[in-house]
Amino acid sequence: MEHNVIIIGGACAGLTAAIYSSRANLKPLCIEGYQAGGQLMLTTEVENYPGFPEGIMGPELMQLFRKQAERFGTQFITADATKVDFSKQPFEVFVRDKSYKTKSIIIATGASPNLLKIPHEERLMGHGVSTCATCDGFFFKNQHVVVIGGGDSAMEEATFLTKHASQVTVIHRRRELRASKIMQERAFKNPKIKFIWDTVPTEVLGDKEVTGIKIKNVKTNKIEEFKCQGFFLAIGHTPNTKLFKGQLDLLDNQYLKVTNNTKTSVPGVFSAGDVHDHHYRQAVTAAGSGCMAALDAEKYLESIT
Ligand code: NAP
Repeated sequence: MEHNVIIIGGACAGLTAAIYSSRANLKPLCIEGYQAGGQLMLTTEVENYPGFPEGIMGPELMQLFRKQAERFGTQFITADATKVDFSKQPFEVFVRDKSYKTKSIIIATGASPNLLKIPHEERLMGHGVSTCATCDGFFFKNQHVVVIGGGDSAMEEATFLTKHASQVTVIHRRRELRASKIMQERAFKNPKIKFIWDTVPTEVLGDKEVTGIKIKNVKTNKIEEFKCQGFFLAIGHTPNTKLFKGQLDLLDNQYLKVTNNTKTSVPGVFSAGDVHDHHYRQAVTAAGSGCMAALDAEKYLESIT
C-alpha cells in the first residue's frame, strides 16, 4: 500500500498537519513517536493558546489536537520512525523492520530543550522547572526565579521574566556571556536581573515544587544552596533531525533547511514546526506551520498526479 502522506511526529505541528490533510481526504498516517505530544507534555498550564481563555493543561491540549485528527480519519502509529529513505519515489519510512511507502512526507519531529540532567530536574518539570519563560513566566508573579545559560535565549527569558518575577538571577557557567551585545546590555541594565558567574546548578531542591537549587562555583568548587521558586533552563535546544542526516539538507546548527516556509531539499518532503523553526518556537506557530505543510503537501500531490 502506498500512502499519500506520512507525518512523522505527533505534537502541535504534526497533529495540525494531520487535521488538515485528513480533511483534504489524503488519509494521512501519523507516526507520532513514543514522545507524542512533544514539548507541551512537559508543561502544566498553557495560557497563550488562543481559544482557551481559562488556559488548558499542555497534555490535555495535545489530546484534543489528536482527537480532532482522529475524527477526520488520521491513522496513528505510536512508535518512533527508525529509518527513512527519501532517495526515490515512493519514499519509505521504517518503524523497526516494517516499511511504509508514501508519495509525500511531513516532518514534524520538533526540537528538544536541552536539560542539565541533574537530580530532580525532570521530576519537577512543570512544577517550578521550565524550559519556556513565555509559557510559564506568568506563574511566578512576585517570586524569585533563576535562569540557566548565557546565550540570547537566557537573556531574552530573563528579561521577559522580570515582567512577572520579583527577582531574576542568571546563573552562567563562565564569566562571559555568549549572547549578542544588545541582549546583554538590556539584561545588565535591568535592575531586577542579577548574575552569578562561573557557577553551575548541581541539584534542584523541592518535594512537590521547586524551593531552591544547589549551585557549585566551578572555580572554587564551593557548593551552596540558593532559594528560588522557578528554575528556567535556557541552554539551547536540539532539533530532532538525526534520522534525516544524509537525506535532507541541514543547517550548521542541525535544524532542517527549508525554503518557502515548508520545503526541504527533497521535493515532496515538507517540514513543520520546531524541527526547522529555531526562532518562534511557540505552540501556535508550530500549529500554523503544520497547516502550511499540509496545504503544500496537498498541492504537491496534485502536481504529480
Ligand atoms: P546558545 O546560544 O547555544 O546558548 C546556550 C547557553 O547555554 C550558552 O551560554 C552555554 O554556555 C549554556 N550552556 C549550554 N550547555 C550548558 C550546560 N550543560 N550547563 C550550563 N550552561 C550550559 O543557545 P540559545 O541561547 O538558545 O540560542 C540559540 C540560537 O538562537 C542562537 O543563534 C541565538 O542567537 C538565537 N536566538 C536569538 C534570539 C534573538 O535574537 N531574539 C533569541 C533567542 C535565541 P557557554 O556560553 O559556556 O557555551
